[in-house]
Amino acid sequence: MKYLIANWKMNSVDLDSWENNFINYVNSSKSFPKPHELKIVLCSNLYDFYVLSEKIKNSKNDIFKNITLYAQDVSQHEEGAFTGQVSSKFLKSVGLKGSIIGHSELRENGDDDEIVFEKGAKLKEEGISNIFCIGESLKILESNKKKSFLLNQLTAFCKKNVFPDLLAYEPIWAIGTGKEADPENIASAVSMIIEFLEKKKINCPVLYGGSVSSRNILEIMSVSGIDGCLVGNSSLDGEQFANIASKIKS
Ligand code: PEP
Repeated sequence: MKYLIANWKMNSVDLDSWENNFINYVNSSKSFPKPHELKIVLCSNLYDFYVLSEKIKNSKNDIFKNITLYAQDVSQHEEGAFTGQVSSKFLKSVGLKGSIIGHSELRENGDDDEIVFEKGAKLKEEGISNIFCIGESLKILESNKKKSFLLNQLTAFCKKNVFPDLLAYEPIWAIGTGKEADPENIASAVSMIIEFLEKKKINCPVLYGGSVSSRNILEIMSVSGIDGCLVGNSSLDGEQFANIASKIKS
């Protein structure tokens, strides 16, 4: 099984056009991967979630119908005076199947390793999944500290009964820049991540994120150990996203 995650962030997406463009591409594609070969997850904002979930439920297209909806973030708190935050209990009650946690854009805004761990713990308590993101900045890459930095992020998260359900390696310098990481860089991070997961006996697919597009998806997916991708900008258009998905072979 391979995985493709769309992260729409706080962008406006015309849901009707996205659906039409996605389905048209799927229908015109000769060998679009089947739902048992490729799991597609869409992380929209919570306001679009209700409309999307109705569209998915009522769709006659088998691929669109099998899209799974996740949130982009979750609170580390259970309930109470936390203005603007959304609990894992709420996500579950409205039918979301999981959430991204540890995205670099949230880490930059104050989510440290401990908060990311607590968010993972809250999702676990509700029995819904996490997509745990890690990744180094350019400064860390250039000072040759990538390995120890990623190991610290992994160690801080994988403790007690918390572990990643899906892990996305997203070098910060490649996110939204149009400049994906080179295969060697991805491969070295992925092999270190897999070694860590194996030692901890954690069985978890490893994804790459950072300027993924229909142009580079084949090269990225050919890196050993990569089970899929997390896509930001190129997921905002249904046709482009379907084009990326069509190139992923199980
Ligand atoms: C992301 O949002 O995590 C991401 C990888 O974005 P982009 O594909 O735009 O780099």
